[in-house]
Amino acid sequence: MKNSIFTEHKNIIIKIVLATVLLITGMMIGHGAVSTLLLLAAYVIIAIETIVDAVKGIFKGDIFDEDTLMCIASLSAIALGEFAEAVAILLFFNIGELFEDVAIDRSRNKIKALMDIRPDYANLQTDSDAIKVDPKKINTGDIIIIYPGEKIPLDGIVKEGNSYIDTKAITGESQPTEATKGTKVFSGSINLSGNLTVEVEKPYGESTAAKILSLIENSDERRSGAEKFTDRFAKIYTPAVVLAAIAVALIPGIITGEFVLWARRAVTLLVVSCPCALVISIPLCFFCGLGAASHNGILIKGSGYLELLGKVKTAAFDKTGTLTKGKFEIAEIHGEQELLSTVAAAEKYSPHPIAQSILAAASEVPEAINHEHLAGLGVRCELDGETVIAGNEELMRQAGIIPEYASRTGTVVHCAKGSKYLGYIVINDTLKDNAKNAIAELKSLNIERTVMLSGDNKAICDDIAAEAGVDTVYAELLPADKATLMEKLRADGITVFAGDGINDAPVLIAADVGVAMGGVGSDAAIESADVVLLDDDIGKLAKAIKLSRRTMGIVKQNIILSLGIKILIVILGVLGIANIWLAVFGDVGVLILAILNSLRVLRIVK
Ligand code: ADP
Ligand code: MG
Repeated sequence: MKNSIFTEHKNIIIKIVLATVLLITGMMIGHGAVSTLLLLAAYVIIAIETIVDAVKGIFKGDIFDEDTLMCIASLSAIALGEFAEAVAILLFFNIGELFEDVAIDRSRNKIKALMDIRPDYANLQTDSDAIKVDPKKINTGDIIIIYPGEKIPLDGIVKEGNSYIDTKAITGESQPTEATKGTKVFSGSINLSGNLTVEVEKPYGESTAAKILSLIENSDERRSGAEKFTDRFAKIYTPAVVLAAIAVALIPGIITGEFVLWARRAVTLLVVSCPCALVISIPLCFFCGLGAASHNGILIKGSGYLELLGKVKTAAFDKTGTLTKGKFEIAEIHGEQELLSTVAAAEKYSPHPIAQSILAAASEVPEAINHEHLAGLGVRCELDGETVIAGNEELMRQAGIIPEYASRTGTVVHCAKGSKYLGYIVINDTLKDNAKNAIAELKSLNIERTVMLSGDNKAICDDIAAEAGVDTVYAELLPADKATLMEKLRADGITVFAGDGINDAPVLIAADVGVAMGGVGSDAAIESADVVLLDDDIGKLAKAIKLSRRTMGIVKQNIILSLGIKILIVILGVLGIANIWLAVFGDVGVLILAILNSLRVLRIVK
């Protein structure tokens, strides 16, 4: 490891060592021409690149960056005849930069290792045997073999074989899941025990692993307020410091006549004012925060959302598939003989959990055509030359059909064929095992309001909300109504909405932070959400909020730490108690402390 740090940063390390040796020798010799020569040599070695960078910066319009600041400080020290100090200023600045590079490499490597889901090859089944192929060359419908211990390269359905699968890298779930014939498997997970023969369902570019990787790589799209602040801060701050230093050198100098003394104090002020600790450590904190979140199966599309999560006041949820399991059981079938099969025919292509459950219960599914999905209402199709609609009361009303009143509580699916009402099916869903805990945990994090927004009927929503401990219920909403309501909720503070992504795109966008659950395999959710929880665990929301608060806590510590120490040294410097040396050590010290502190964010894993 040491070796690789050395080889990667060879030039800067050699420069630092050479300059240090020359500096120490020069200082030990003390005064005289030899000493001056050694110190000047050290200065040339250490300064050239920084000066070149500063000049390049000036041509690019970046007149007052850290490079410029340090160059002005060290050149002023030379002008004052303080050669050793001049070398030290740039020497420690370079040590700081080396440290920064190593820290960023380290955290990047760590995050890369956490997200080691990029498949290198796929074993494509050919007539005779399996050959290793680039996953990008595999087509939908191809058959691939995955041996134990291998990464699953593409999304698909198991055709043969029994095995356990580790989905930890994509969902953060550490419990292995079973895979047998018919199980859907997702790229990026690991096949643990047996050979699996899988039919590929999506080309590599649309596979889960590729989507997750592109999310992580583009996660700096929306930057946090804290980062934007440090950028703006550095732009005003650096010129202000240079002006202040000139003032410190000139004004008391003119008054007292002691120009050299005040010029030295001005140099101390310049050195200590270097904003590198903030400019470097804050983006590093967010970078590590996003990495730690990914490791927990929480994908956040930008540090801006990581920052907002910690400030959430209202947490809103969709019901089906978010608070409930989304696995409906049929409680009652009330109506004509053909009711269940007709509803099933209409539900055939719907992605809604209601459809999945009805299809699982139906023994026959007649062939229908022109299937349509009516968001928040139900489904429509053509069967035997007639229009079939299946869905809620509102859908029936819109079609001019008078539905029967269902006396049992549950989600009711009414059905009509042509103008004839066929009856209704009552289905029941159960609360997720951890939903109640998840809501309680949010409340313990001082989330002020929990709200359920659902398209289902009021009675069932009230029941589920009471069971889960959700405070407020808004029922019988269309997807657009959910978005309108969300706009209203936003008036009372930052909002988060968590949904399963089915029929939820408008409200996911309307909320300050839209969270899609069970993102694995659901494309629409991954696209419209700001945060994707890769498994169905609603408890991850509280985890994401905690992670945000810890990250922001460390960001604040870094701001207070670096500003505090710097202000102290500035005061001591102007009073003449701190000299250039103390300023140099203070500056590098704060930088290193802030970087180490930022890396602590990576430890907030699990
Ligand atoms: P939720 O807010 O509970 O997730 P949705 O917005 O997904 O609800 O759907 C709202 C309502 O629309 C459902 O409760 C159901 O009555 C009806 N609905 C939606 N999709 C279907 C479908 N495929 N089949 C039958 N009814 C449906
Ligand atoms: Mg829904």
